[in-house]
Amino acid sequence: MPEKFAAAINCIDGRVQQAVRSFIITNFEVDHVDKITEAGANKVLAEGLDKIALESIKKRVEFSVNGHNVKDVFVVGHFGCLANPADEDEQKKQIIKAIAVVSSWNLPVENILGIWVHKGLKTCSLVMP
Ligand SMILES: [Zn+2]
Repeated sequence: MPEKFAAAINCIDGRVQQAVRSFIITNFEVDHVDKITEAGANKVLAEGLDKIALESIKKRVEFSVNGHNVKDVFVVGHFGCLANPADEDEQKKQIIKAIAVVSSWNLPVENILGIWVHKGLKTCSLVMP
């Protein structure tokens, strides 16, 4: 069996990487999680103001998806984000908007899903529209 990969568009914050990786590997039956990191990634994607960052994220996601045959892409937001001061409700709205942006890239994937990292930064849950 070839190894399976997912891709996570996540914040740069080192505190959340392990929780996100474990959550995805446990719940989505993949072996590895490619990381595409940007400070406050959900905000950057939802607002779309930083075109250079947006294009960079897109390029790196495409590289992962095409090179590793990724079927599940995740957009992550987390409690206590240095780059995204919005509260939990607002950040979850940004994640939903970010999913729509990533969907518009027409990637050959099956799922584009949101993840919220809870206060404490050890556990996650899916963010549903
Ligand atoms: Zn952050």
